[in-house]
Amino acid sequence: MHSGETDRLNWELATELIVVKIRWFGILTGVILVEARSGLHNPSAVRVFLALGAIYATLDTVYYRLGAVFLRRWPLFVSLMESVFITLLCFNDAQLHSPFRWYYLLSIICCAIRYPRTVAWTTCGLHCLSFAGLAWALGFDRAGLASVAETVVILACVAWASSALASVLNATGARLEGLNEALERHRAELEERVAERTAALRASQARVIQQEKMAAFGLLAAGIAHEVGNPLAGISSLIQMIRRKDPNPYTNEKLELAERQLGRIQRTIRELVDFSRPASTARGRVRPVDFVEEALGIAKYYQRTKERAITTDVPADLPPVRGVRDHLAQVILNLVLNAIDATGRGGRIHLELGDDAGAVVLSVEDDGRGVAADDRARLFQPYFTTKPSGTGLGLFVSRQIVEEMGGTLTFRSEPGRGTTFLIRLPADRPDPPSIVARPALAEGVAR
Ligand code: ADP
Repeated sequence: MHSGETDRLNWELATELIVVKIRWFGILTGVILVEARSGLHNPSAVRVFLALGAIYATLDTVYYRLGAVFLRRWPLFVSLMESVFITLLCFNDAQLHSPFRWYYLLSIICCAIRYPRTVAWTTCGLHCLSFAGLAWALGFDRAGLASVAETVVILACVAWASSALASVLNATGARLEGLNEALERHRAELEERVAERTAALRASQARVIQQEKMAAFGLLAAGIAHEVGNPLAGISSLIQMIRRKDPNPYTNEKLELAERQLGRIQRTIRELVDFSRPASTARGRVRPVDFVEEALGIAKYYQRTKERAITTDVPADLPPVRGVRDHLAQVILNLVLNAIDATGRGGRIHLELGDDAGAVVLSVEDDGRGVAADDRARLFQPYFTTKPSGTGLGLFVSRQIVEEMGGTLTFRSEPGRGTTFLIRLPADRPDPPSIVARPALAEGVAR
């Protein structure tokens, strides 16, 4: 239920409690009045009417206990019933001088508390008419006329005072309700903002962790390069020294082979150091083929890469994109390593670059285990990982990087059949690109 409606009902129930108490007060006073006085016109009838009143008050109480208001939509019917009821009480009691005529006051007060002014005044009118009717039925005399006049004046005063008081109470209630609603709204807004800030904080924390990871990797690579580089340089100069001594052809051939292998090791180390040097954050025009090659150059050192077949389709005539080259290489490397992790021995991974309506499109497709239906919504959330040693930050940071460059990173997956991640980046060229039929440069980068 809407909170405003609940508050209104609570307000009605609070006023109903007052009404229920007034009714029981009336019944109890009535019983005392009947039992403590003599000379009543018809005491038995008064007792019967009081019993009927008690039944009505019981119904009201039961409704109140159930959280409802008895005959809530029929206020004037209730007023009419009360008019007849009180007039009959008066008739059977001491008639025009019966103290029961002050029950009219209680009835008007109840009405004023619960309903708008007009209902209270209509009720007052009904009671006055009813009492005047009783006086008329009994034959007007001076004393009767005085009693009617006195009752009418007092009823009017009470109707005026109680509806004025009730309208102040109602206005205060409405104001409180308004304030309460505003408070609720502010609370919801505050919660929303806290959630937003928490998400932003988690995002920046995740980015920092990823950067720290890369920095640690860079430090490690630089350390290895230093430690391995010096002995390698020593071995290389030793080989050259021996070769200068003109060894026999067999030894010369083997030394040449060793030199080539040494060169390979030095290249590998250089690539690792290049990739892991502190990333430049300068944006520039980047050729997609460059960052893809850089990423694949690193991916090939991943142990498991050797057991997968990675193919690429990279057209030469693609437009450049505007972004940070190192960051884009990081994104591709992350997608390729994920694809490697998702596939088994002999798994196939295919990278394809193309252009489409002013955007460069890059897809990384694998025929691995796919993404489970339950994980789909969480894939890009920070710290979501299904790997024992995963951080769950790769896809999250990748999407951030791509979005910062005005692009999108999405995926489609079929559990058990494979996954394709799709990057779209705005092409950095003034003219809209035409879709060119291009030769596929399919190339296996890993064996
Ligand atoms: P991490 O690699 O550290 O787990 P990522 O954010 O890169 O972090 O990946 C989050 C999760 O997304 C992975 O743990 C994996 O469950 C799932 N995932 C990513 N790429 C693929 C893919 N190609 N196939 C199947 N699941 C994938």
